[in-house]
Amino acid sequence: MDSEGGASLPSGPDAKKRRVSYFYEPTVGDYYYGQGHPMKPHRIRMAHNLVVHYGLHRRMEINRPFPAGPIDIRRFHADDYVDFLASVTPETLADSVHSRHLKRFNVGEDCPVFDGLFGFCQASAGGSIGAAVKLNRQDADIAVNWAGGLHHAKKAEASGFCYVNDIVLGILELLKVHRVRPILLYFFVIKLLLFELKQ
Ligand SMILES: [Zn+2]
Repeated sequence: MDSEGGASLPSGPDAKKRRVSYFYEPTVGDYYYGQGHPMKPHRIRMAHNLVVHYGLHRRMEINRPFPAGPIDIRRFHADDYVDFLASVTPETLADSVHSRHLKRFNVGEDCPVFDGLFGFCQASAGGSIGAAVKLNRQDADIAVNWAGGLHHAKKAEASGFCYVNDIVLGILELLKVHRVRPILLYFFVIKLLLFELKQ
C-alpha cells in the first residue's frame, strides 16, 4: 500500500492506483458437479492458487464472502424455487417432495443436484453481493469474484450449470446506490464476462 491507498498498478487515463477487493471462499473448490460434468468449481481454487503464487494477494484486499441467505436470494428468485434449492440433496432427490419439481426447475442433467448445492450457490452469490457492497461503499474501485458470473439462472429455473443468478443479485445491490437502468448494467456485466471468456 502506498500513500494513494491503491493496491493495483497505476492504470487508466489518470494513472491512479485502483483499490482491488477480491472475494474468495476457501471451500468453493470442494463442490463437485459430478463425474464428466464440464463445470468444475475446483478451477476457482486453481485460479486462487495462481493468485497467491504470483504474490497478487499482496496487492489486493482478500475477503471471504458472507454466504447469501435465502432472503438475499429471494430478491430475484421465486420462493418455491429457493425452498427447493435449499432443501434438495442427492439423497432426497427422488422423494415425493422433490421429485415432482425436478422438471419444472430444470434440475437434473446440465444442472445436477450435488452435495452442498445450496452452499455453493450461497458462496457464489455472497461473493457478488459482497463485491457490490464494497463498490457501493466506495471501499474498492475494482471488486472480483471468480465464483460468480452464473448468469444463465432464471427466476424459477436452473439453466446452463447455473442455479442462482449472482449477477442479477449484485446488480440489485448496486442499484441501491447507482441509479441507472438495470438492463444497461446487465449488458455491461455480460460484456465483461464475454470479454473474459475470449482471453
Ligand atoms: Zn451458466
